[in-house]
Amino acid sequence: PLPQVVIIGRPNVGKSTLFNRLVGKKLALVDDQPGVTRDRRFGEAGLLGLEFQAVDTAGWEDEEPDSLPGRMRAQTEVSLKGADAALFVIDARAGLTPLDEEIGRWLREQEVPVVLIANKAEGNAGESGILECYSLGLGQPVPVSAEHGEGIADLYEALVPLI
Ligand code: GDP
Ligand code: MG
Repeated sequence: PLPQVVIIGRPNVGKSTLFNRLVGKKLALVDDQPGVTRDRRFGEAGLLGLEFQAVDTAGWEDEEPDSLPGRMRAQTEVSLKGADAALFVIDARAGLTPLDEEIGRWLREQEVPVVLIANKAEGNAGESGILECYSLGLGQPVPVSAEHGEGIADLYEALVPLI
């Protein structure tokens, strides 16, 4: 079976855009399990020849913007179970929010290896956001632009030793 890589982050940071970039035109399967897992999408991803199953997460959109409520954490826990790595996406233009910090704190306690991704960094945008997210304690952020396809080689370099 392919290694599984789950894409995590607060709403609107670009998780689904990254998922679509990684999965491309390949068919994304919609999980039909009830409850929290219903908000996940699976797709066969190719990243410069590295193949894995990508998992897009959602369903946090209805929650309070600055809290990590039970349902959100529950979904993250479900998604992380069986995952070989997590891509934790933040919005480099928006900078870190309290919710990013809360998810980051929680992720640090988990056993799954994490690649920190500073998205929306096309054309050297979001430099202060990129610097800010070192404070998450999740290592060096990888600046990417999921929308414009920038930073893909760096993402490959960060992910390939983990899966
Ligand atoms: P999600 O809620 O985390 O799944 O985020 P989406 O993938 O739905 O994207 C949220 C918004 O961010 C959309 O308007 C995207 O077009 C935009 N977006 C995603 N990736 C990028 C990027 O690399 N650069 C910029 N400037 N916008 C992006
Ligand atoms: Mg989404």
